[in-house]
Amino acid sequence: MKILLALGAVALLSVGAMASEHGKHWGYEGHSGPTNWKEFSKTCGTGHAQSPINIIPGKTVSMNHQYDLDLSEDVHTEAKVIDNGHSIKVTPAQGGTITLHGEKFKLLQFHFHGKSEHTINGKRYDMVAHMVHQNPKTKQLAVVAVFFVEGKNNPMLDNILGNIGGEIRVDPQDLLPDDTAHYYHYVGSLTTPPCSENVQWYLLKTPQTASKEQIEAFRKYYVDNERPVQELHDRKIESK
Ligand SMILES: [Zn+2]
Repeated sequence: MKILLALGAVALLSVGAMASEHGKHWGYEGHSGPTNWKEFSKTCGTGHAQSPINIIPGKTVSMNHQYDLDLSEDVHTEAKVIDNGHSIKVTPAQGGTITLHGEKFKLLQFHFHGKSEHTINGKRYDMVAHMVHQNPKTKQLAVVAVFFVEGKNNPMLDNILGNIGGEIRVDPQDLLPDDTAHYYHYVGSLTTPPCSENVQWYLLKTPQTASKEQIEAFRKYYVDNERPVQELHDRKIESK
């Protein structure tokens, strides 16, 4: 039994190593892991507005409604699905948009983490999707995070996980939960090098579901691709 467990651990370690080594130089474990990301980009080590963070719902402030999230993701489009060495990433040919403060941000890509990066009261969700948007004029980024809990099968995830390296037809709106009117909002950073700041984060409070089998299937690729939570410093988290 002990031998079997040891073999299992070796198999898991080698999957992790492969994931962090192909392509880029940074990763999630050992010398290339998050505590040394400052070697890839100084901001990762010295920034005071980094992500992810832990959110304590009792310590949030009310939403500044000028920055309310207005989603318009209902676009049927072709999309490329790739394993980029850090995550499974879906790049739609024609993304939807979100509008914040009167400015439109276009969906560039979405990708997944094997556990949520942001925590709520210290708790991680089973998975998270990050929908990365950009304002084409200012280049500012805005990320909508959709948490996943174990539950009903998610057809979109099957489509994505079954077509890594290929193309799919997708409607990014299918990724969103029914309730998108409630969320946490704050200004943070990319959660991977170069850890660039001034990123608008929207964390939807209502989670999506994925089946146990789907969560396990994703974690065969990435199980620990989440950055540890960062200091809040003097930032305020808004809640709606
Ligand atoms: Zn991410």
